[in-house]
Amino acid sequence: MLNQSIKAFLLNEAKKRFLRYVKIDTRSDPESKKYPSSDGQWNLARMLKKELDQIGLIHVELDPYGYVYATLPASRSVSGPKITFCAHIDTSPSVSGTNVSPTIHKKYGGGLISFADEKNLTLSPEESPELLKFVGGNIITASGGTLLGADDKAGIAEIMASLAAFQKFRDLSHPELRIVFTPDEEIGKGTEKINREKLGDYGYTVDGGEIGELEDECFDAFEAELVFRGLNVHPGDAKNKMVNAGAIAARFVVALPEFETPERTEKKEGFFHLTAIKGDESLARIRILIRDFERKNNRKRIELLKKLIRVFELRYWGLRVETEIKDQYKNMKKILEKHPEAVRIAEQAIQMADVEVIRKAVRGGTDGSRLSFMGMPTPNIFAGGLMLHCEKEWIPEIALQKGAEVIVNICGLWAGGNLPRLDHRLN
Ligand SMILES: [Zn+2]
Repeated sequence: MLNQSIKAFLLNEAKKRFLRYVKIDTRSDPESKKYPSSDGQWNLARMLKKELDQIGLIHVELDPYGYVYATLPASRSVSGPKITFCAHIDTSPSVSGTNVSPTIHKKYGGGLISFADEKNLTLSPEESPELLKFVGGNIITASGGTLLGADDKAGIAEIMASLAAFQKFRDLSHPELRIVFTPDEEIGKGTEKINREKLGDYGYTVDGGEIGELEDECFDAFEAELVFRGLNVHPGDAKNKMVNAGAIAARFVVALPEFETPERTEKKEGFFHLTAIKGDESLARIRILIRDFERKNNRKRIELLKKLIRVFELRYWGLRVETEIKDQYKNMKKILEKHPEAVRIAEQAIQMADVEVIRKAVRGGTDGSRLSFMGMPTPNIFAGGLMLHCEKEWIPEIALQKGAEVIVNICGLWAGGNLPRLDHRLN
C-alpha cells in the first residue's frame, strides 16, 4: 500500500501533466503517408522527451518516426525482467483536437454536465452511467467542440507521474523500465515502426477505459477487399449483355449474414463489417472487416466469402471478382495465457490500489496485441477515460491518481519478492 504523501504526489503530478498534454493538438491523420501522420504529434513528443530528461531517465530518444523511448535503471539490488510501459501520443481523427480547453467540474453533484463553448451539448448519467460512481469527486471534460484526449494522454500522464515518483521516493523499488510513447495508434500504425530492441521483456499498454479495466484478450482480425469487374453497355441495348458490377456488389453485401454485424453483436460474438462500398457498372469495390475472438471462426467467415464469390460468378456470367485478404492482427490471449504472471501481477496491482478489477475482452485491437506477438507479453490496463472519441469524453480526476498507483504497484510487484503465486500449468 502506498502512503498518503505518495498518493497525493501522484495525483498532483499526473493532473498537472495531463492538463498540459491535452492542450496540444495531436490528432492523427489516416490519409497521411508521413511518420508520424500529423505534425502536432511532434510537439507533444518533444515535450515528453524534455520532461523525461528532466526527471532523470537515461537513453531518452525521439526517433525519426516520432517514437519516444527512455530507460529507468532498476533500483539498487533489483534484478529480473525489464518492464515496458506504453501509451500513445495521438488522439482520434474523428473529432477536432484543436484548442482543447480542459474543464474541471468540481464536486460533481450527479446531474447534467454542461460545456462552456457549446450551449447545446450536455453529458448526463443516462448516457454515461459510470458518472454516478464519482459523485462528490472532480470530473474533467473538454469545453465543447473538441474531444478531451484522455485517450491516451491520461495514460501518458500516469506513466510520467509514476516515473517522477520513483525519482523522488527512492524506497519505491522497481525493475529496469523501458518507456515508449507511440504515434498513430488511432490509425492502426502504433507499432509499425517500433523498435523491439528498445523494449523490455514484459509490457503494459496504459490505454484502457474505466478505472479497474484489465484486458488480456482482443479480436482476431482480417480485412477483405473485393473488386467486382463487370461490363458496361449502352442501357438501350444492354439485355443479356450488361454486367452491372455496382448492383451486383450491393447484392453481395446483402447476402452476408445480417445478424453477424457490429450493430447486431456483442461480448464474444464475431462479425462481418462493411466499411466501404463504391462503384459503377464496370467496377465496384467493397471492404469488409472480419472479426472474432477465435481464429477458426474467422477462417469459416473467409470460407463463406469465397463460396459466395463462386456462387456470384456462376450466377452473373461475365462477372469477375478479385479478392485480397489481409491478416491484420491476432488475439493476444494466445501469448498471454503462456505468461499468466503478466496479467496476474496487473490484477494484484489494481487490487492494491483499492480498485475492483474489471476483466474485459477488447472488441478491437490494441498495440499490446502486436507487441505480444513480437515477443513481449503486453496486457492493457486502464487509463481512466470514458465516452472516448467524442466531444463528451470525460475522466474522473481520481483516475489519474489510481492509474499512476497501479503502475507503481506493478513495478513494486515485479521488483520485490512479493510476486503473486504463479500458475504455470499453461506453460
Ligand atoms: Zn487509445
